[in-house]
Amino acid sequence: MMYAKVIVDVAAAQTNKAFDYLIPEELEGLIQPGMRVTVPFGPRKIQGFVWQITEHTELARVKPITEMLDPYPVLTEELLKLGEWLALETVCFLITAYQSMIPSAIRAKPKKLLQLKMDEKDLNPALQTIFAGKQSVDWAKFSNDKQTMALLKKAIQEETIEVEYFLKDQTKKKMVRTIRTSDSAYAIDHQQIIGNRAKKQVQFMNWFKNNFPSEAVAIQTVTEQAGVTTNIIRSLVNKGLLIEEAVEEYRDPYENQEFEQPKRPNLTTQQREVLDPIDAAVTDSNHEAFLLRGVTGSGKTEVYLRTIETVLEKGEEAIVLVPEISLTPQMVERFKERFGSQVAVLHSALSSGEKYDEWRKVHRKEVKVAVGARSAIFAPFENLGVIIIDEEHEGSYKQEDHPRYHARQVALWRGNYHSCPILLGSATPSLESYARASRHVFTLLELPDRVNKVAMPEVDVIDMRDELKKGNRSAFSELLLEKMQDRIEKNEQIVLFLNRRGYSTFVICRNCGYTAACPHCEITLTYHHTGRNLKCHYCGYHEPMMNTCPECESEHIRFFGTGTQKVQEEITNLLPEARVIRMDVDTTSRKGSHAKLLQSFRNGEADILLGTQMIAKGLDFPKITLVGVLAADTMLHLPDFRAPERTFQLLTQVSGRAGRDKLLGEVVVQTYTPDHYSIQHAKTHDFKSFSLEEMGQRKRGGYPPYYYITLVTVAHEDITKVIKTSDKIASYLKQTLSPETKILGPTVSPIARIKDRYRYQCMIKYKNEPELINKLNEIHFHYQKEMANNHLSISIDMNPQMFM
Ligand code: ADP
Ligand code: ZN
Ligand code: ZN
Repeated sequence: MMYAKVIVDVAAAQTNKAFDYLIPEELEGLIQPGMRVTVPFGPRKIQGFVWQITEHTELARVKPITEMLDPYPVLTEELLKLGEWLALETVCFLITAYQSMIPSAIRAKPKKLLQLKMDEKDLNPALQTIFAGKQSVDWAKFSNDKQTMALLKKAIQEETIEVEYFLKDQTKKKMVRTIRTSDSAYAIDHQQIIGNRAKKQVQFMNWFKNNFPSEAVAIQTVTEQAGVTTNIIRSLVNKGLLIEEAVEEYRDPYENQEFEQPKRPNLTTQQREVLDPIDAAVTDSNHEAFLLRGVTGSGKTEVYLRTIETVLEKGEEAIVLVPEISLTPQMVERFKERFGSQVAVLHSALSSGEKYDEWRKVHRKEVKVAVGARSAIFAPFENLGVIIIDEEHEGSYKQEDHPRYHARQVALWRGNYHSCPILLGSATPSLESYARASRHVFTLLELPDRVNKVAMPEVDVIDMRDELKKGNRSAFSELLLEKMQDRIEKNEQIVLFLNRRGYSTFVICRNCGYTAACPHCEITLTYHHTGRNLKCHYCGYHEPMMNTCPECESEHIRFFGTGTQKVQEEITNLLPEARVIRMDVDTTSRKGSHAKLLQSFRNGEADILLGTQMIAKGLDFPKITLVGVLAADTMLHLPDFRAPERTFQLLTQVSGRAGRDKLLGEVVVQTYTPDHYSIQHAKTHDFKSFSLEEMGQRKRGGYPPYYYITLVTVAHEDITKVIKTSDKIASYLKQTLSPETKILGPTVSPIARIKDRYRYQCMIKYKNEPELINKLNEIHFHYQKEMANNHLSISIDMNPQMFM
């Protein structure tokens, strides 16, 4: 008897372990760890992952597995192990960790087809009856028929048939009808079979054998190229000269783009020096972590590409993480150009069907490079040669929901498992990584100069308080406006950056000071011009814009602050001849619109690109010579110790868009706090001085990288319940953790209420607390029942990136 240990799909404390199931005889030898199965669980049938296979069970009575859902494991042995580690480290359930590693499209229940892999007439009679002249049959028809299953199992093992799974509806694989020549087309003179009268058929067979001796070609392609009707093809299929098959066609989201074989630049001396130790680590299979700090435009991406070349030569695979990759089509192009069809692209802007296809290319070992956003870190490669994380400081590498992992942390684990190097790149590394480099935990590599030797752009910092004193109430300082005029005359391009967070328009009554806030969340509503309504960005609540103040009935209620729409209107007033492309959530929500807008800006169809965070990264357009940051300090005042770091990073990123080619770039930064060190050091492009000063702040405040932080947030509709629970958690932690560890709070969260639930938080600051993970897991399990039944939520965030 064989048994499977199965992790069932119920995220709860009682089920956070493997359950034993009997492997039915007909599935013995087929079921492997990492496959999904259906199993009886109480009165229900639920899905689960096979974790291990054993010959023993402690239990007196075990129920059999109902159904096998995958013909091949979806999780490799490595990913099964990684999931265990991840569940523990991020305080979540095993099933949650495993689910996050596979694309959501395959979580649906697939339909399985048995497909013939050989000529039907060579099958044994029993199988012939099953297939009855068809190429494929539905597995579900036989899954309860023991005898047939035994037959099929043998056939699968002998590889005369294979199991393929098909997802229903939109994630269905796209199939194309193809033809290829049969063996008999070569064994016998085809003219004899066709006969003399069907000249066209003979002609076509000659043509086809010449052009496509053995490969399968789409029928549509053939009819177009040879100018024949499908009837001719059909009769040749009937005569056994051609074989017609349905072949899976991948939905390639990049299929309409041409990727030229690129000029591969000669490396600069700096790039060569940086590559030497990386190459050595790849070649020697060393698990070494490199931190590559290179100014914007220093050629980091070329270093990534060369590293991957070495990895591919070695026959190994590479993962490249890029933040929100959909936002940088240019980046994807560079990988596609260099490595062509060896690249799969995994990111959130793809449809779930496309995501599934790209993932399957990795799963089936059809590609060697996966380029993607955060979750691509789980690409199921088995011979990893390097993991590259570009813009390693980016907050989006941390998942804000279960499992709350950081891609960098997973990369280090996988690099250790595969004994391969990790390459972290950034112009503005996170202080955590930079500190590790200073302690030689990471190897620091630097590219201090731009490839083209063009100087870093000149940065002007404008004090907006002075502008106001001069009577300038516009969003543009005099200097910025002047420079914009100049660029438009010279036919050069401008990027205007507006920080969305904290700077979107909110409504205020100038008479009584009333501000419109969400009735469910402690947060102001944002005014949206299209539709003239007010929206909550946390819960989606919206209401029409009011004409009079609900408090004092004054008519002097209006929106305040500056959104991209309003800035666009102002540009139209001030510079009527300027052509503006606006990029924000409103103009880029449709699929592909982001890439289209960028393309038209690149083509010179506009003078000004106006946008939010999404334009800060990756743009590499030679004609951009002016970058304007409309309000540099909006992010500075968020209740978050990383606010100065984020401000510095953002200003550096945005400035990096200017002067990337031969033309010198200029940057104008508008701010109300011109003297802040994050703005001052960004002005001089001085990462080292910034990090020195910021490290001092962190040390004084007891923040990372000097201390680790864990944030526990409790939320419930009943505020007394929230206070009671968070008090209990805090005092439990105080009792059990070491005295050096600081437990702050419980205190009300910066956003005190979301979706009608009150929120309190506890912050744990520690240097060395080996018991913490266990204690937190204990707490998580202890409150599990209440969390399931009672709307109580306790979120535990190790190394949080957000403190809201
Ligand atoms: P980063 O990623 O550091 O911002 P990129 O890799 O985008 O910099 O490089 C900036 C520009 O320089 C790109 O247009 C790139 O094609 C070009 N480039 C990179 N390396 C070289 C090289 N060795 N010789 C010439 N051009 C290069
Ligand atoms: Zn009012
Ligand atoms: Zn709300």
